[in-house]
Amino acid sequence: MPTPMALMKPGPQPTAPSFITTIITDPIPGSVVLLHQNAFTTSRGTTSSAPFEFAGTWPARLIATAIHAGHGLRPELAELIALPEADRLREEDPFTDRLIDGFDTRVYVDRSRFEVDLNRDADGAVYRSPAEAWDLKVWHDTELDAANVAASREIHTAFYDELRARLDECAKHGPFVIYDVHSYNHRRDGADRPAAPEADNPEVNVGTGSLNSERFGGIVTAFIGALQAQRVPWGTLDVRENVRFFGGHLAQWVHENYPETGIVLALEFKKTFMDEWSGIPDEAHLRALNAALRETVPATLAALDKLEAP
Ligand SMILES: [Zn+2]
Repeated sequence: MPTPMALMKPGPQPTAPSFITTIITDPIPGSVVLLHQNAFTTSRGTTSSAPFEFAGTWPARLIATAIHAGHGLRPELAELIALPEADRLREEDPFTDRLIDGFDTRVYVDRSRFEVDLNRDADGAVYRSPAEAWDLKVWHDTELDAANVAASREIHTAFYDELRARLDECAKHGPFVIYDVHSYNHRRDGADRPAAPEADNPEVNVGTGSLNSERFGGIVTAFIGALQAQRVPWGTLDVRENVRFFGGHLAQWVHENYPETGIVLALEFKKTFMDEWSGIPDEAHLRALNAALRETVPATLAALDKLEAP
């Protein structure tokens, strides 16, 4: 039987996106590259000026999203941001767009979560002040101005409008699964300091906090089993459910709007595939994780087939 997904996209993968090269080669922190530029080079090597992209084949039964992969800022915000670019990158989910390479149906967000955080609800999606962004001083001004807040929130509205239109079509054909791919830091204390304890920090945290487990638990079990069964060069993957993360707004929104058909697995990958301080990816590790994730698709779709009609 043919595999349901295409293989990796053709062409060489860049070793590091241009923004990372700039961090390394430019001694002055700040958004030097992005300041007067309205198109961003993504970590998958494409150039984007659009805030988000719905790619591949729609409608679909399995969708992979990377809503925190983005690093870009629109020019107005690039001039206002105080947070050094390297610090911003550390709080984003770089290379999660690469983790969904090869999936038939993909959603990319190419703007930074510091422009608009699509995994928060509309009211909380724009970090106006430090209190809304882990006490980080994001903007030179005390608080982001109302016009910019409104402009960023418009992206949130546009994204969820587009998502609704797409998922309405998916739901007409039956239930669908979303792999909502994120990543998290585990070396908060410093590059040379011990990593966070493995007991509380699985390599992949599967967040299902807002999922109807009575109806959809079989799909979660099938997915976790399939990912745990994958062989990677360093052995097997430590995959656990709801250890540190339970899923964010995207999962909640889908589960509220598609209670009978929408199943979101919020996947937080520990940043073992990169140096979270330098921003440099480990290409082989990244490819292995991408391959392992792709290999779970048949098992997830088989579990979806077994769902009984509501
Ligand atoms: Zn995230």
